[in-house]
Amino acid sequence: MPDAPRHADWMAALAAHYDDARQRYPGERLLVMFDIDGTITDIRAMILDVLRQYDRAHQTEHFRHLTLGDITVSDNRIEGLLNSLPIPAPQHAQIADWFSANRWTPEAIYRSHRPYHGVLEVIRWFQLQPNTFVGLNTGRPEAVREMTLRSLNALGDIYRVSFPNELLFMNPGGWGGDVLASKVAGVRYFQAAGYRVIAFVDNEPENLAAIEAADPDHEILLLHADTIFDSRRERMPSQAIGGDSYALTSLLEKGEIPGKIQLVWHAVNSARRIEEFLQARVHWGEFDVRRDPFSGALVTRQYSYTAVPPVSREETAPLLSDTLERLKKAGKGVKLDLRAGLETVDEVLALTRAAGFDGTGLWFNGRIERLLEDGFHKLSVAYPAAILQCSIDFLAPLILGTPAKAKEILDMLTGWGLNRFSVRWQTLNKRQIIRQMEGWGLEVNIFEIPNLEQFLKATLLLPRSITADFIHPGLQEPPAAP
Ligand SMILES: [Mg+2]
Repeated sequence: MPDAPRHADWMAALAAHYDDARQRYPGERLLVMFDIDGTITDIRAMILDVLRQYDRAHQTEHFRHLTLGDITVSDNRIEGLLNSLPIPAPQHAQIADWFSANRWTPEAIYRSHRPYHGVLEVIRWFQLQPNTFVGLNTGRPEAVREMTLRSLNALGDIYRVSFPNELLFMNPGGWGGDVLASKVAGVRYFQAAGYRVIAFVDNEPENLAAIEAADPDHEILLLHADTIFDSRRERMPSQAIGGDSYALTSLLEKGEIPGKIQLVWHAVNSARRIEEFLQARVHWGEFDVRRDPFSGALVTRQYSYTAVPPVSREETAPLLSDTLERLKKAGKGVKLDLRAGLETVDEVLALTRAAGFDGTGLWFNGRIERLLEDGFHKLSVAYPAAILQCSIDFLAPLILGTPAKAKEILDMLTGWGLNRFSVRWQTLNKRQIIRQMEGWGLEVNIFEIPNLEQFLKATLLLPRSITADFIHPGLQEPPAAP
């Protein structure tokens, strides 16, 4: 038997199959079933962790230089790993016994769980779709149910993923029970609970084969997580599609942006980009407001005149007054980044009033040290309905480290009229920070997103808004980089 077909993109296959099931079974509860170990979590992290525990407990150094990349077997084949290391053979049995006794302790499960890159976002995406569920079908026994749920939910939390108890099926046969029968029983369990199982992701070819045999009509798409596995590759059902990375881009090509996220086209500024924006479906456009040093007029220009001097005196940036009028007529939302700060506020307000803006279509962004309390206050008095935003990068370590102090500062800023807080996507621990901000009831904007994959990941957090250059192709082709 040949290897399973190496589909260029197993996630694209899953998306297509899901689409198909949606149309074929409207109103039904669709369920995508995942194995856990080697499929969602990287079992190697647990193996490495337990072996290091061994070294510590026995004051040995067998695994001192062992890395994740060295581990090519599952936890059931630890002897294979020991044979590949310079460890005296007589010690293997003792290590293997200790490993077996310690690998599935609650501490080991909790401490060493590491999800594969992207898998929690893929799960989140399905959980966001109407009438769509993710079920877990694992060979782990009931004995570790509580710890399994606790550790997976801890991992999932910042991705907004949750795994409810009733959607976890475990091996009724206990440790070493018949896993193949258990996998099939899992399908029957979900079906009996009223779900239509449409796909199954597992890293063991023989588990996929067991499901195939139990599903003569091939309703369940079989996806092989090509990580590490014990069963022979020859056991792979010919229908199975293999993959080793969970990429959102292929999964979401057909999907809509979830929720009601306000999308903002970053740095519209130039005359050409303004024309593109006027044709685009994206409602909000962001403009950098600066003062032209020659004419003294307010213009929209991406770079400061000091950092990037004009090529010649003839170079002209679009006048803010003209741009505002055109955008108002087109019914577009305008986000103004007041780069020049406080000294421009009165003039900006005069121009927005002249263009007929009433506040609902306006959004102001500025640095707190440039606009100051005075600037934000003026803007919020003039336009109480407008969005007033600043970046909170400077607060990031405090939000996680001393949240009470951070909250005091945020309270001060909301007192100035600020009602939207912007988080750079590259910020360390951004998901925890965004989680905390939302816990405080504050609206978050995400900005500086490098590519479509990251953009899609950001949408799964359902922030209030996202400012990006890279707009989802289903909404609008991204403009070329400047
Ligand atoms: Mg597995």
